[in-house]
Order: sequence, then C-alpha cells, then structure tokens
Amino acid sequence: MKKFIIFILALPFFSLNSFSSEKIYKGTLIDAHSQVGILISNKEVSERINNTDVDLTLLSMRGKYENATKRFKSIQKLTNGKVQYLIPTKLKGFARKKRNANEAINGIKDLKKQAIKNKINYVGFGEIIVQHAPHDHEKLKYEGINLDLNSYRIKKAIDIILKDEAPIILHVELNDYEEDSKKILSQLVEIGKKYPNKNFLLMHMAQIEIEEAEIILKETKNVHFITSHSDPYRAKNEKRKRLGKAQTGWITLFNKKNNLKKKWKNLMNENPHRFVFALDNVFDHHWKKKYKDRVYFWRKALASLNQNTSSLIACGNANTYFKLELKCIP
Ligand SMILES: [Zn+2]
Repeated sequence: MKKFIIFILALPFFSLNSFSSEKIYKGTLIDAHSQVGILISNKEVSERINNTDVDLTLLSMRGKYENATKRFKSIQKLTNGKVQYLIPTKLKGFARKKRNANEAINGIKDLKKQAIKNKINYVGFGEIIVQHAPHDHEKLKYEGINLDLNSYRIKKAIDIILKDEAPIILHVELNDYEEDSKKILSQLVEIGKKYPNKNFLLMHMAQIEIEEAEIILKETKNVHFITSHSDPYRAKNEKRKRLGKAQTGWITLFNKKNNLKKKWKNLMNENPHRFVFALDNVFDHHWKKKYKDRVYFWRKALASLNQNTSSLIACGNANTYFKLELKCIP
C-alpha cells in the first residue's frame, strides 16, 4: 500500500520531466565579445540588450573613432549597466594593411586615455585582427589582411594590452588562411609559453580543426577559445564560397540535429576552463534578427554539457579572465 502511494505521488513529477520543454541552461550568461557599429542607434541596440536573456555583454565599438567612448557611455546608461567596455582596437585602420601602423596603434592608446578620462571602468580590449579574409559585402568592403603574431602592428597592439590586466583577444583565421595555419598555431603555443600569466582568447574558435585545438589545449595552459561564429547561424560557408564575398572558413561545433558534436562536447567537458561563450554581434542585423533565437539556441547547447562546464563557459571563465567580479549563478 505504502509503495503504491509513493508511486501515485511521484507520477506527476515523472510525467512533467518527460514531457516538459527542452533542457535549458538557466544560469548567468556573459557575451564576452560583441560590437556596435553605425548601422544601429544607441537606443535601438540598448532595447535589444535589455530584452534579451544575456546578463552581461562585453562591448566594443565600430565606426567613428570620435564617437566611440560617448556611444559606449550612452549604451551603458540605457541598459542600466548590462554592458562593459572593451576598448576598440581597429578604429584607426588597424586591419587595413595600407593604413599606417603607428597611427593605428596610437589610436588604441588614445581610446584608452579617453576611457580613463571619462571614468569608464573598461574590462579589456576588443579583438586584434591578425588575419581577416577580404569582404565584398554591402555592409563591409574590405581588402583583407594576413599578418602573424610577429608582425609589427600585432606586436605593438599586444604590448599595449600586456601593460593592462586584461586578456588578449586575437582574431586569426586558420581555415581561410589554411596555408599559414601551421605557422600561426606554433606562434600561439609560443606566445602562451612566453607570457604564462596572461590569458589569450581566440575569437571565433580561430576557425580551428579539432586536432589543432587539441594541440593548443595540450601545449598551453592560457590560450583559450571564444565560441563566437561557430553555430549554424554563422557557418553558412557553402553559400559564401559560391559568392566569394567573405570568410568561408567558419567552423561549426554542431551536428545536423543542432546538438554539439560529440567530439567537441567531450573536449569542452575535459577542458572546462578553456572555452568562453560569446556571440560577437557585429552588424545591425545580428542585433535585430535572431538575436534571441541564438541566445536560446546556445542556452540549449550549454545545457547539454556537464553542469560545471556549462557554468564556466557561460560565465565563470569570462568572469575570471576579464576580472569582472560577477556572481555566476549556475
Ligand atoms: Zn572577429
């Protein structure tokens, strides 16, 4: 009789569990790198940020150099502190090979001064473009750049960040510049060893193959991966290849059923400190279209990882590397 009662009581629980909606990571979520440019207003982007389930966004500015600091301050106010500042690195032509390197470098230093003068408690710097495929797109016309970690402007930019507490965010494209991938890979291992107390974050998974990622994870302790541009929303490679308009090398961590590929999932669970979540919204449509869907998509993916792993990738790792002093709720 007793057993029967327990069964009756437990029944609603079981049925709730098996029929309830998909498993979702409900903890704190930090987008560790996104950008705002001239195609969206402060008001509009702030509205999107306020209405989306991301707790904190680390934000860098695109477009006009003169407005960057002011724009950030305005967005910070409009979102009630849901954003933190990454000092922009590319606004004075840093990623345009024909532009003067020293001018670009001084531009970063100036923006840092501006941030300090305006009492912005910045948490780091935006991505340093090391390699970037050419773009022929209505929103970006760009001839591309293919440097490496020993190039003059890259070393100078890294030097600026070395003086700060912040991690160094690098944008390399191991797929789009396949011919240089071995060189970049060994330089990444080298720089990780040279600065053991610094953290290096590779944007967009560095477009890396899993075997190469295993090398980075094994050979270094402080070179980590940012998950931006590695979901089906961005990896429309085939179409782009046909059109020849932009990067074709983005990797995807997901299988056709939109679950994390088993190999990547295992790698994340085995190395929970080495991955950092970010969406890297860049253009206006990233903020305006499917932003919520992508966040939901990632919250679902995070839920498929071990609990400790999901909380670290969603919040804990960014919290540590950017010294955010946030409370990460798993
Ligand atoms: Zn990037």
